[in-house]
Amino acid sequence: MSQSLFEPFQPLVAIATTPQAATTLQPICQLTGAILWVPETLADQANVQVYSGSLRDHLATLWPQHRGFIFGLATGAVVRLIAPLLEHKSQDPAVLVVEEQGQSVISLCSGHLGHADQLTRLIASQIGATSIITGTSTRSQLPSLDLLGQPFGWQRGAGDWNQVSGAIARQQSVAVVQESGSKLWQAHLPAEHPFVFADPPGDAPQVCITHRAAASDLPIVRWHPRVLWVGIGCERGTSRALIEQGIEQVFREFGLAMDAIASITTLDLKADEAGLLELCQDRNWPLQCFAPEVLRGVEVPTPSEIVAAEVGTPSVAEAAALYAAQVQAGSLEAESLKAEPATLIVPKQIIRNAEEAGAATVAIALSPLEFTGRQGRLYLVGTGPGSLDQMTPAAQTAIVQADAVIGYSLYMDLVQSRLRPGQMIETYPITQERQRAQRAIALANWGLTVAMISSGDAGIYGMAGLVLEELELQNWDGRAPAVEIFPGVSALQAAASRVGTPLMHDFCAISLSDRLTPWEVIEKRLQAAAAADFVTALYNPRSQLRVEQLTIAQTIMLEHRDPNTPVAVVRSAYREDEATQLTTLGQLHTVTVDMLTTVLIGNGSTHTYQNWMITPRGYLNSPQAS
Ligand code: SAH
Repeated sequence: MSQSLFEPFQPLVAIATTPQAATTLQPICQLTGAILWVPETLADQANVQVYSGSLRDHLATLWPQHRGFIFGLATGAVVRLIAPLLEHKSQDPAVLVVEEQGQSVISLCSGHLGHADQLTRLIASQIGATSIITGTSTRSQLPSLDLLGQPFGWQRGAGDWNQVSGAIARQQSVAVVQESGSKLWQAHLPAEHPFVFADPPGDAPQVCITHRAAASDLPIVRWHPRVLWVGIGCERGTSRALIEQGIEQVFREFGLAMDAIASITTLDLKADEAGLLELCQDRNWPLQCFAPEVLRGVEVPTPSEIVAAEVGTPSVAEAAALYAAQVQAGSLEAESLKAEPATLIVPKQIIRNAEEAGAATVAIALSPLEFTGRQGRLYLVGTGPGSLDQMTPAAQTAIVQADAVIGYSLYMDLVQSRLRPGQMIETYPITQERQRAQRAIALANWGLTVAMISSGDAGIYGMAGLVLEELELQNWDGRAPAVEIFPGVSALQAAASRVGTPLMHDFCAISLSDRLTPWEVIEKRLQAAAAADFVTALYNPRSQLRVEQLTIAQTIMLEHRDPNTPVAVVRSAYREDEATQLTTLGQLHTVTVDMLTTVLIGNGSTHTYQNWMITPRGYLNSPQAS
């Protein structure tokens, strides 16, 4: 079960009032980790929780404790049940309805902010149902305005969200002014979109992506990327209130948005400063503390010799803010030197309050790369041999759930129908595997959910291994980013299924590509496989530049096997241009083989019957056979 796909939606609950609905919801609950509630009449069902009394009363108790509700009831009944509980779309949980037979999943309420649309897509993808999503942005392939900054952890600021969303739905132009945060989303818009990247924006409805706070009479919505690192210095014992007041005052004075705060930064000496700790905890701000040796090296506008003498660095607030912002700036680049520099936008301000002791210093640095505050995930997904129906539902769901999907362009075409609006799709040419792996890891380290796709199985001559090796090189702690591997049908299984049961006994796979493996090693393995009578699947049997390897493989096999040994040559299994040929080891050189082909060489007992290739398992020779 790939429950981690559903982690972001927890806690989830499901409700069924008929035996059929309970049967339909059971596998969905297993899949998603939702608890299934049923009335006393269905108490004999396994794995359920039973409520007594009215569903309306029970729902009122469940409502505030859950982020999503999956109903196996008629939509009308659900609408009446939830009506008294709904408050506002920014607060209400996701509400879904699953049709009694499980044919369709309906996103009923809180589609965007409550993530009901996405949960609907995922469940439908997992159970092979139709998803019914009625929001307008879904039709136009646009990311919804409400969720635009979600992958990057942006905070929704003030604004007239209904009016700007309405303008987008009516296909009016909407100006975008982006002063901070990643512009990655801009590169992944559909060809037809309403956004005009104009500056000045005029008086059209506007999306403003900024770390600033400003009032406006125009129809504007604000997203705040978390790009501000707030450096704090303070005297021992300074109160939480004074530090908070200081930060608020500086933000007001400089016209900055508190929602754009990424983190509070300071000297490690302050790691136990009670007021500061309390403030960070209450406001949910991460606290980063640095050693004086680190801060000493940062060039700042207002160093102080007195401070240096006291704590070992001439700057605390300015240096800590700048340092942390710069580390963040470099975190997406393979070589952090390439990153744009962070800038100190507020030099140190000293805040005192006549009525109490203590003092705080506040400085603010702006990083070109935002803090997402999200737990990154890496899904290593095997997409199977080609057609979508050969991809596991879990693999399809992983792709739907990802913020970014990375893979070869050919494979991206194969999963096109699984991609959803607002996803970042990055394709790389063949041979740039390492860059691709590093990019996937960097995006996941940044906090994104990244699906790295490989054809067949990602762990068989695919990208999964390289990604794990790169993580190892980067001293990955095994937890962040979280890694999950989604198996796929590998070429050898796909090819075998087209010709019979050639892999019915012990078999091995050998890639004939010597791009990453010395030819001597390949030859040695061919020898061993041939001698040990393994059924042998040859991957990468030939490229335009490499033509002789298959002939050598054939010669080696012929040293141990009969020329009449059946061989299957399967090209593009489960793709449009699929071609299958059964031949023999002796005739293999007469058949067209290319890089899209898998060659299956039978063992000493493989034979053909009515155009099927059969490798006996041994049942017919066993003593039980009669
Ligand atoms: N990870 C993949 C293998 C990638 S190596 C998997 O598990 O299937 C690439 C090789 O796989 C190709 O050279 C070819 O030998 C084989 N291959 C991939 N897709 C195939 C398909 N649809 N039909 C036949 N062979 C295929």
